[in-house]
Amino acid sequence: MAEKPEIIEILQSVSDPLTDVSIVASGRIKGLNVNNGTVAFALDVSGLDADGGEKLKAEVEHRIKSLEGIEKISIVLTRERRPITSPQPTPKRPPPTGLPPKAIESLKSVGAIIAVASGKGGVGKSTTAVNLACALKEMGKRVGMLDADIHGPSLPTLLNVTEAPGIDNGKIRPAEAKGIKFMSIGFMLPDGGPVIWRGPMVAGAIKQLLSDVNWGDLDYLIVDLPPGTGDAQLSLVQSVPLKGAIIVSTPQDLALIDARKGLQMFEKVGTPVLGIVENMSTFKCPSCGEETAIFGHGGAKATAEELGAPFLGEVPLDPQIRILSDAGTPIVFADPDGFIAATYRGIAKAMLEQLEALEAKAKG
Ligand code: ADP
Repeated sequence: MAEKPEIIEILQSVSDPLTDVSIVASGRIKGLNVNNGTVAFALDVSGLDADGGEKLKAEVEHRIKSLEGIEKISIVLTRERRPITSPQPTPKRPPPTGLPPKAIESLKSVGAIIAVASGKGGVGKSTTAVNLACALKEMGKRVGMLDADIHGPSLPTLLNVTEAPGIDNGKIRPAEAKGIKFMSIGFMLPDGGPVIWRGPMVAGAIKQLLSDVNWGDLDYLIVDLPPGTGDAQLSLVQSVPLKGAIIVSTPQDLALIDARKGLQMFEKVGTPVLGIVENMSTFKCPSCGEETAIFGHGGAKATAEELGAPFLGEVPLDPQIRILSDAGTPIVFADPDGFIAATYRGIAKAMLEQLEALEAKAKG
């Protein structure tokens, strides 16, 4: 009998009439409930006329009926006063062959390139990216990091990178910190004043970082993206042959709305989202041990479920994470036996499982 994941999967095959993403990613499905062959949910038909709403409902019903064991379908049409925004049409992601041959050469021994993204700044994207890289390193993987955060490249501080990149045989040798190969877009910034990056500039700089750097043999190259889902981010995800992306969000509604946009951006360019991480999930009082959900709790998990994206795990708000990051040793290395390190390891494992599942699916 069809369960919730199958229903979500079939709903993902229905395109939104206003955009080119699925009706799940565009947020039209609310409160999905599946119980003993009965499927119930609200279908948000904002932005469609009455005829369009009915047509969409009929299509959705038709698809669900094709599943086994469905006895009753109850769809309530709802309409928000604010119309669903229709994202600007964007060009499809060019195949990796769009990269200069030099880049393809540089990346030929790199296993999987994975982006860590967030819909907005300050949610802990870079902190998550670094600790994930450390967790993978700890598992014996060969790991590199590319700091593409044009708004504030912070990885050199988080990893305490003291060595500058060098040159070997006409190619850039990445810096290395804690056994992780490392390059930052910050190394390309001119000294002094801030730089205003436009999409094509970012894409150009990243292509250069991929072509001119001798990454050597790597299992994973983690790319820390700039926060947001604007033009610069889009150009960037189109210029890197990504295997998958992770989205970091806090549990607050506002951050989650932005995380949803992140999901839509990756869906548009055909990059699989490996999962969502909830950061600053709960706060554990260091003196009394009581846990408080400062920003709410579980919102990212619920959003992931609603959008049919995997949920990779949740990291509590813990002052130690910031203190150790600022001191240049990520918590996974500074306190490897602690609960937080175990949490990041769990997230890394869940991500690898998603990658494996993708590969298995690709092989058929
Ligand atoms: P982003 O890359 O999303 O802008 P950062 O990773 O730079 O965010 O994190 C923003 C700030 O929050 C940093 O000072 C960082 O140390 C801190 N921080 C991130 N995650 C946590 C956490 N789980 N607990 C406590 N502080 C955190």
